[in-house]
Amino acid sequence: MKEEVKKVEQEALNALKEVSDLAGIRALKSRFLGRNGILTGLLRKISRLPPEERPETGRLANEVKKRLEQAFGKALQAFEAGREETPADVLDVTLPGRPLAMGRVHPITQVSHTICQIFQRLGFEIVEGPDVELDYYNFEALNIPRDHPARDMQDTFYISENTVLRTHTSPIQVRVMESQPPPVRIIAPGKAYRVDSDVSHTPMFHQVEGLMVQENISFGDLKGILTTFVHQIFDEETSLRFRPSFFPFTEPSAEVDILCVICRGKGCRVCSHTGWLEVLGAGMVHPAVFEMIGYDTDRYTGFAFGMGIERIAMLKYGIEDIRKFYENDLRFLEQF
Ligand SMILES: [Zn+2]
Repeated sequence: MKEEVKKVEQEALNALKEVSDLAGIRALKSRFLGRNGILTGLLRKISRLPPEERPETGRLANEVKKRLEQAFGKALQAFEAGREETPADVLDVTLPGRPLAMGRVHPITQVSHTICQIFQRLGFEIVEGPDVELDYYNFEALNIPRDHPARDMQDTFYISENTVLRTHTSPIQVRVMESQPPPVRIIAPGKAYRVDSDVSHTPMFHQVEGLMVQENISFGDLKGILTTFVHQIFDEETSLRFRPSFFPFTEPSAEVDILCVICRGKGCRVCSHTGWLEVLGAGMVHPAVFEMIGYDTDRYTGFAFGMGIERIAMLKYGIEDIRKFYENDLRFLEQF
C-alpha cells in the first residue's frame, strides 16, 4: 500500500511536468486529488488495512496529498503569473452600462426655490423664522385677537398655552419688522401647520410670505409685483384678478386669482368651471400691525402677501392630490 502511494505521487509529478495549459493542469489535479481521484481512492482504502498498518500508511498518504496539492497550486500560480492580461479580461465593452441612481430635489423645494428666485430678482431678501412660534408672533402681533376662530384647537397645533406650530409664515414679517426699521423687502419661505387633511390640505404644508414696507407704497405696487411674479412662474398669458377679501393683518385685503392654467378660462374641473384659480392672499399691512411694532403709520405703508407652495406646484405640474407630495413614492418623485 505504501509503495502504491509513493508510485501515485511520482506519477502525478511526472504528468504535471508534461502539461502546459490551464485546462490540462486542472484536469490532472482532478484526476489525482478530485473526489473520485486516484489518491482519494487510496485514502479511502486505508480504513480497510490491518490496524497496525493504518497509522503509518495514513500519515504517508496525507503527506503525499499535501505535497501534490502544493505542486498543483504552484503550477496554477505560475501559469496565471506568466500569462499577460489583455483588456478583454478586465473590461467587457459589450456589457450594458450600469445605471446611476440619481437623487433629485423634491418638487416642493424646486418650486420654493423658483418662487424665491423670482422675488430675489425683484430685490427681495430671503429670511426664515422658527416653526415653533410664540402665540404673540403667530396671532397677537398680526391683529388676530384672543377670541378669533383661527386660534381654535381644531385648527391649530398647540405646543403649550403660549407656543404653537406656526399656522402661517406671517409671523416672520413681525420678527423682521421688529428687528429693523423700514425699508423692508423680504420673502419668507417655510413650513406651516394646521389640523387639516384631505385632497387639498396636509397637516404640514409650505408657504411663501412676502412683505414690502417703505414710504409711498400703494396697492398699485402690490399689483405690479404680483403680476410680474405670476407671469414669471406661469407665463405672460396668465392674467390676474383681485377679489376683495378679509385678513386680520391687512386692510384692504384681496384674494388673487389667476386665469385657469388648465382651461385658459373656458371652465374645467380644476377651476370648478369658473375659469379662475385662487392662488394667493394679499393686502396692505394693517396699521394696527405697524403700531404694535412701532413703525410710524403716517410715514410708512406696505403690502404683504402669502401663498401655498403646494398649490402653486399642483397647478404648475397638474397634480390633483396634494398628498402625493408626501407619500415618498419614487415613481412620482422621479418625474421632477
Ligand atoms: Zn379651468
